[in-house]
Amino acid sequence: MTITAIVSALHEELAAVLDLMPDEQQQTVGGRAFWRGHLHGHDVVAVLSGIGKVAAATTAAALIERFGVQRIVFTGVAGGLAPGVNVGDVVVARHFLQHDMDASPLFPRHEVPGYGRSRFDADAGLSARLALASEQVLRELPARLGAGVMQAFKLEAPRCHQGLLISGDRFVSSTAESLTLREALPEALAVEMEGAAFAQVCHDYGVPLAVVRTISDRADDAAHVDFPRFLREVASRYSAAVIETLLRET
Ligand code: SAH
Repeated sequence: MTITAIVSALHEELAAVLDLMPDEQQQTVGGRAFWRGHLHGHDVVAVLSGIGKVAAATTAAALIERFGVQRIVFTGVAGGLAPGVNVGDVVVARHFLQHDMDASPLFPRHEVPGYGRSRFDADAGLSARLALASEQVLRELPARLGAGVMQAFKLEAPRCHQGLLISGDRFVSSTAESLTLREALPEALAVEMEGAAFAQVCHDYGVPLAVVRTISDRADDAAHVDFPRFLREVASRYSAAVIETLLRET
């Protein structure tokens, strides 16, 4: 049977996923705890990615080399960049790019040396199923969270976007930096710190990857205020619901 890796970016998300696994067993590799078990009848390895591209890349390599996972699903949060990508919306990645990769003038800006490309792709089929699961959870969101939380975060009609997700080793938390990124990469829907690293490793090994990110902030001057509240009250509950919906139906 296919072994699926469920990667969470945050402790709260991992805890919610482990709650869905009746028989998980912990194993430590490279100082990181991996949890093997089952979720809705699927063989699953759950793990916390750690923050940033290096932690993400080593986690991805360990999942593939040591645990033999055959597909990877990543859930986390991100800062919204493109207009209309609002707090509470969801982004399912179609492509990834490292916004802080710059070996110019030797290589074009953002190109990963040795690969001849700046963008890496998500698996189309797995991502389409993840987007369907996300849309379903968004429809159920008001009932799951309750009117108080919906109003507190002004979550009126949260949407699922699909497109370019960019990653770098920076928490983007100023309006100026967010504008600079938007100018350089107008197609980018959202920014986070791990997705593109997973995509590069998955490309190397030919392992399908799908990434969903709930928008926790707008990567602007208010990002540090919005981020922790959103994690506690919304994102942690949201991710487990998406994973459960995905694995129930595939
Ligand atoms: N103090 C936090 C650290 C958060 S770092 C903690 O409790 O762990 C931010 C994390 O959320 C990263 O994993 C990144 O992928 C994502 N993220 C959310 N908003 C972001 C933003 N505006 N810029 C970059 N990454 C962001």
